[in-house]
Amino acid sequence: MTEELFTNKVLKGTGVSSGITTGKVYLLERGRIPINKLSIKEEHVERETHKFRIAVHTAIEELNSIKETIPDDEVRKHAFIIDTHVLIIQDDFFVNEVVDVIRREKINAEWALDIVISKFLTSFDKIEDSYLRERGQDLKYIHERLVRIMVKGKKSGIDRKSMKGKSIIIAHDLSPADTIQLNLNSISGFVTDVGGRTSHTSIVARALEIPAVVGVGNITSLIKNNDTIIIDGDEGVVIINPTKQVQKDYLAKQVHLRNQRKEFLRIARLKPETKDGFRLKVGANIELLAEVDIVEKYGALGIGLYRTEYIYLSRKTLPTEMDHYHIYRKLAENKSLQYITIRTLDIGGDKFVSDVDMPKEMNPAMGLRAIRLCIKELSIFKTQLMGILRASAYGPLRILIPMVSGIEEVRKTKAIIAECMAELSSKRAHFNKDIKIGIMIEVPSACMISDKLAGEVDFFSIGTNDLIQYTLAIDRVNEYVSYLYEPLHPAVLKMIKRAVDDAHANKIEIALCGEMAGEPLYVPIMLGLGLDEVSMNPYSIPRIKKIIRGIDQSHCRELVEEIMKKDSAKEGEQFLRNAMSRVFPNDFIKCYDE
Ligand code: PEP
Ligand code: MG
Repeated sequence: MTEELFTNKVLKGTGVSSGITTGKVYLLERGRIPINKLSIKEEHVERETHKFRIAVHTAIEELNSIKETIPDDEVRKHAFIIDTHVLIIQDDFFVNEVVDVIRREKINAEWALDIVISKFLTSFDKIEDSYLRERGQDLKYIHERLVRIMVKGKKSGIDRKSMKGKSIIIAHDLSPADTIQLNLNSISGFVTDVGGRTSHTSIVARALEIPAVVGVGNITSLIKNNDTIIIDGDEGVVIINPTKQVQKDYLAKQVHLRNQRKEFLRIARLKPETKDGFRLKVGANIELLAEVDIVEKYGALGIGLYRTEYIYLSRKTLPTEMDHYHIYRKLAENKSLQYITIRTLDIGGDKFVSDVDMPKEMNPAMGLRAIRLCIKELSIFKTQLMGILRASAYGPLRILIPMVSGIEEVRKTKAIIAECMAELSSKRAHFNKDIKIGIMIEVPSACMISDKLAGEVDFFSIGTNDLIQYTLAIDRVNEYVSYLYEPLHPAVLKMIKRAVDDAHANKIEIALCGEMAGEPLYVPIMLGLGLDEVSMNPYSIPRIKKIIRGIDQSHCRELVEEIMKKDSAKEGEQFLRNAMSRVFPNDFIKCYDE
């Protein structure tokens, strides 16, 4: 390739961690090691199994030593990912499976490992939920480490000594071990060929606030060490060897974003109060305990939704009562959070945990999911509830039940919680007897009987991601119908209004925690309908606070009244956008077909 091809070359990927950075490249050259299938004689079987067991041993030592020498306190918080890899590698089931294949098929250890990992990966590939599917990546990292040890007999990973100054790491993929070994003072960004929003690298990059773009395709084959690149983590853009003018433009954008971020961090500290004095509670949605620092930094009052599914994913066996307890207790003891909403396990549908036996369903979104599954798999449910209750002695935890469709589910759940309480009392364990119990309003039937449900619980939280899916009959993971995903659909607005009015008539609070809550345009809807609380991804909080602080709730009520008269989401959106562009001329673009 000629030099020109590398000048100002723009590549597109997925921006997974916000910010712009420019710097020199550190290319982590580590393509897949080619391995061949070799048939072996009976007398060499033991040699191959021995080679594999030694590789297992070495890999565990390598990972432990990486963990012990993590150079940065911030990064150390993510070391649990390394523990997950160690747990998988030393799992007897995994090791014995490979040894069995070597013995049975009389093949070399590398090929036997490949067969076993491919078999496991096939199961992962069938998972629709992108977050869970990405967890298959852990198996690939393990595979790569073991093969490297067996084939080359040498260590894998980043050579920190060869990095000079601050660099942008470019890799086919970064394993959690790679990410964790990095010294934050020596890296200013990540770019990878593969990966998605929910890969570990992305999660870690976001938690550490380092700009990152993943899924770029073939950047490792287009770039060489010491090339200069720009990463735009918001737009998902990477520019190789930018011209001076492009560098200047991006520098200006970087300065603008930095100032904006400073401004956001300032707004994050302000109260989410409308001009006419209504205070909306603004909380954060989290998936990991590690996200708590960001939650505080971006000004959340509390945690409106902790998606506890991740606890089940980051381990090889189901979490115990004490595992749950330790995680929730850490949250409970955080003094800056005024409430912490623990949503009980919401798997099934598009989410899946390997250790839980679930039937293959034709329509998983409408199948044995969330509370339905928990009521069936009582011991899994009780284990989590006991952990929550024990931790409730230490801070303002509350319980949130997902996917309720009828009153029996609520009554049954309350009876199960009461049983757990009785059990804990008999053990003289401490817990909050008055812990608040709430339900997600995310199934249309729950909206239609929200007057009855409100009499049973302490609070509601509307999950618009599912409520829209079920109300408009659009599969939320199906890209062909994603255009129908309309939060301002009159049916959706009517549903939300009904739930809010019923909650208030029964003197309970109501939150909204779907993606819609983090969208600035919809702030007047949430204020106008009278929600008490919203919860969103932490980075959206300052933007949402800014809008709340710049508008009157009385005006929002009028806007909602008008929008609810519209025939379609499109008409409502045009009206809303135009109204918002008058109140915030710099934040919303006017729709001209008014
Ligand atoms: C929702 O459905 O809106 C919600 C917040 O929950 P989840 O996205 O985890 O289903
Ligand atoms: Mg949901």
